Amino acid sequence: MTFIDCAKDGKIALELENYLKNHGVSAKTDESMVIVNECNIEQVLNDFLKETNRSAYNIRKIDFTNFLLSKEIPIEDFGFFRCEMCGYAVSSEEELLVHRRAHGIQLL
Ligand SMILES: [Zn+2]
Repeated sequence: MTFIDCAKDGKIALELENYLKNHGVSAKTDESMVIVNECNIEQVLNDFLKETNRSAYNIRKIDFTNFLLSKEIPIEDFGFFRCEMCGYAVSSEEELLVHRRAHGIQLL
């Protein structure tokens, strides 16, 4: 089994799950964690980022069974907003509000 941690981003996790299923990889999502049965997943993950135009994201291999999918660049420099709970970055304040809701917390 391989675990892909989407850095608390449940939306990209679901997208990745669907992408993997469309490519014949059985996958399931647990919150922001995508769990797949296959081991040789790195290439598919890179294809996913490429095909969904997520050039700011990076796949980092933690160990044999764990990957981390997250944004890596120093985003504040580009006018991004960063979630103070998990460090996830978005390009607008509105997106940040939507993202925060994913933590199950209402911030008004
Ligand atoms: Zn967050």
